Amino acid sequence: MLVIPRTHGLHLHRSGPADLTAVGLALRDVLARMRQILGDIAYNLVFHTAPYRAGDPYHWHVHIWPKLTSRAGFELGTGMLINIVAPELAARDLRLSVPATC
Ligand SMILES: [Zn+2]
Repeated sequence: MLVIPRTHGLHLHRSGPADLTAVGLALRDVLARMRQILGDIAYNLVFHTAPYRAGDPYHWHVHIWPKLTSRAGFELGTGMLINIVAPELAARDLRLSVPATC
């Protein structure tokens, strides 16, 4: 799952208070929804922001990677991950009600 600020920006640390607040609230809501649907599972939050001196194009964002399975033979042998849930089904289950003004 990705949480992406609406305003284009290369760097997390240069984002304005409105974007930081919006992303923080989105993370809070998404993690609450994930806990509601999946229970108290482990997850990683990964912030991707442009390298310090990088130029466009980049748009900083946050990944949420729930740990639902362990890696087995196929994953370890190929380095590829198997997605056990169809993305459209995960989106349906995890979708939040977002006010139209957001
Ligand atoms: Zn990323």
